[in-house]
Amino acid sequence: MAVERSLILLKPDCLEGGHSGEVMSRFAAAGFAIRGAKMIQLTDKILDIHYAHLTVLPFFTNIKEFMKSAPVLALILEGEDAVSRIRELLGPTDSTKAPPGTIRGDLGVSSMMNIAHASDSPENAQVEIDRFFEPGEVF
Ligand code: ADP
Repeated sequence: MAVERSLILLKPDCLEGGHSGEVMSRFAAAGFAIRGAKMIQLTDKILDIHYAHLTVLPFFTNIKEFMKSAPVLALILEGEDAVSRIRELLGPTDSTKAPPGTIRGDLGVSSMMNIAHASDSPENAQVEIDRFFEPGEVF
């Protein structure tokens, strides 16, 4: 097992729903350390890059509007197999199909409003960390 970092975004539904503490305690209980944390108001500019793989979707504008509807909390988490283990903690994209016990299954309401983003590979994690954090903000 390798020690990895993952870029997490606690989405507007997470912050507005008061779930940030619950989600962060689940990450802490799973043994992940925080290496960076900051609140960000997302813009079209950064979302067009971050979600470039979704631009073909007919409801891409809706996803961007949701992601801009309130600030997000960006986190860098570190731990063994962080990328795959954090995505397991989250569950699948569609909250209505995510099993009980997963973060999305317990707290998410839909495919779009699904509480958090997490990097899907160690390579993308590094790209995403560089996208959302300045070097001096990473510890
Ligand atoms: P994930 O966040 O699980 O890695 P994707 O990268 O495919 O999933 O999608 C990014 C985000 O776009 C999702 O977390 C969700 O907020 C939104 N999204 C993706 N697919 C859909 C969909 N079919 N309907 C509504 N929103 C979606």
